[in-house]
Amino acid sequence: MLIVANWKAYVEDLPKAKGLVAATRRAASRSKATVVIAPPPPLLGALAIGNRSRLAFAAQDISRTTGGAQTGESTARACMAAGAAYAIIGHSERRAAGDTNGIVAEKLGHALAQGLIPILCVGEKERDPAGRYLAFVREELRAALEDIAQKDRTKVIVAYEPIWAIGKHAKDAIGPHDLAEMVLYIKKVLAELLPGNSSARAQVLYGGSVEPEDARSLTAASGIDGVLVGHASADSRQFASIIKELS
Ligand code: PEP
Repeated sequence: MLIVANWKAYVEDLPKAKGLVAATRRAASRSKATVVIAPPPPLLGALAIGNRSRLAFAAQDISRTTGGAQTGESTARACMAAGAAYAIIGHSERRAAGDTNGIVAEKLGHALAQGLIPILCVGEKERDPAGRYLAFVREELRAALEDIAQKDRTKVIVAYEPIWAIGKHAKDAIGPHDLAEMVLYIKKVLAELLPGNSSARAQVLYGGSVEPEDARSLTAASGIDGVLVGHASADSRQFASIIKELS
């Protein structure tokens, strides 16, 4: 089980960040799950450099550039140097700020070139009765992966994050049945995009209003390999409960 904490911009000072890391470390030490924290970029290095705990760190996003005269950009290489092992790419909040499928594909390439494990976010804005959201998710996956070398595609973790379920509460998250259906669909699309039968090992996460109340029901029979947690990951008690629920 992979549990990723996306702190977004909820955490803005180092004492709070260090307290959250310590509480998460304690909860993770009682669990077999792999726990990854994605702090805001200015805090990443202070938390991740020299980290010797079982926790791993992620960049919340990386630049589409590889360096040079690019004021304000955090390149994949700089994120690695700051202690990240993973990078969230294509989060809907970055897509809303201008990341097209093409930009997401470029970022994916840079992450893989530097050895960061990409967590590729895909997900529809809404569920239409005609089922067009399925084609939308398929297209996000295809556009992100088609220019990536076959052997590298197997390194990508997919996070299914339906936009309509993000930033709400447990009762608004997707139902376990619909989630199981979508996981099957994503694995089917990955079987077409990944070499041989490697898609059987592909990891698919779910994100969107995961809270202590729904963590277990979402993961129980849906076939997901982990969760991406937003607001609840910035609350030490809630996040520790989620880790406990999934242990
Ligand atoms: C997210 O945006 O990645 C997310 C999962 O957010 P939340 O848990 O707040 O819905």
